[in-house]
Amino acid sequence: MIYFDNAATTAVSPAVRDAMLPYFANNFGNPSSIFYSLGSDAKREMENARKTVAECLGCDSKEIYFTASGSEADNWAIKGVALKSGKKHIITSAIEHHAVLHTCEFLEKQGYRVTYLPVDSDGLVSPADLENAITDDTALVSIMYANNEIGTIQPIKELCDVAHKKGVPFHTDAVQAVGTLPINLQDLGVDMLSLSAHKFHGPKGIGALYIKKGTKIERLIHGGGQEKGMRAGTENTAYIIGLAKALSDATANMETKTAHIKRLRDKLVKGILDAVPYTILNGHAEKRLPGNANFSFRYIEGEGMLLHLALSGFAVSSGSACASASLDPSHVLLAIGLPHEIAHGSLRISLGAENTEEEVDAFLETLPPIIEKLRAMSPLYEDVLRKEN
Ligand SMILES: *Cc1c(COP(=O)(O)O)cnc(C)c1O
Repeated sequence: MIYFDNAATTAVSPAVRDAMLPYFANNFGNPSSIFYSLGSDAKREMENARKTVAECLGCDSKEIYFTASGSEADNWAIKGVALKSGKKHIITSAIEHHAVLHTCEFLEKQGYRVTYLPVDSDGLVSPADLENAITDDTALVSIMYANNEIGTIQPIKELCDVAHKKGVPFHTDAVQAVGTLPINLQDLGVDMLSLSAHKFHGPKGIGALYIKKGTKIERLIHGGGQEKGMRAGTENTAYIIGLAKALSDATANMETKTAHIKRLRDKLVKGILDAVPYTILNGHAEKRLPGNANFSFRYIEGEGMLLHLALSGFAVSSGSACASASLDPSHVLLAIGLPHEIAHGSLRISLGAENTEEEVDAFLETLPPIIEKLRAMSPLYEDVLRKEN
């Protein structure tokens, strides 16, 4: 199988696995049991991991809180600030991950008002739109760093400055960005940032929320005093250590890795656009994640294409919110203005450092005949060809 779905998840790297293994076996101590070395060693290594994460992101280690996922970090940032602030209005964008969108929809049912900012055809949020949406009652702005479907990277620093000028705290879901793009929290200025280890070769089920000192936020998980009393639950030492190892490896190799991934992505994009007519590349031409390519092929139906690709050994994604359970096209593709029928024929390829040029070449040989075959069955496409001739 050729794995082209790195935006969905990545494999745990051997180095990360090796760093984690001792904490399932001999080093199994509870970091809160600090009166004997088994516990205090675990505590020390966990705090070292926190320091590593803070160094990679340019913040203080006291500002890093470990969570069980990127989804939990998003939930905590949004509900936690909403509950604490007393204000009843939240601003987000129309293209967020469901961890943000469904959290906002939940808060709407609790009596909050939510503004879903539109995006342009490249998927960018406008700072002017944000400025116009802020009111005296705005508790929080939450806008994602980079989109998981179309790869578009937002002008986060600029958007954050707009919110801060009006005294409103700013959260960013950076799950697709951390480990892939250089991030310095000192420069960025956001109040909260979510990340998740399994998107950068760490394990699934561990994430973190950066909370800038002084941010007013309520806890979500009540119980013991872990995470400075802000998130109860015995810490997942092995996974925390895995997250830190994965992030420091990703940060150390970022430039070489990005150059390799980008070169493959650009070859793939050019190859597809040259070979397959009536194809749209979704997302911003330059401001996009290095591994992301998202296409819409007109006059075909997405599920058929995914099935053919799977049978040919490619793991890819429809780019739609939920390819299996729902036939609704992706909210992201609709938000950038694609009509339903075009959004249905969409494909997301997300490359990682392990992918090779041979794999891209194999894909460029496999996809065009699949599209041709599917289009040959489409009465719409027949009309198009007839009109052309
Ligand atoms: C994967 C992802 C999440 C969810 O992270 P989990 O750790 O899988 O819960 C949230 N936001 C974005 C943008 C993502 O890509």
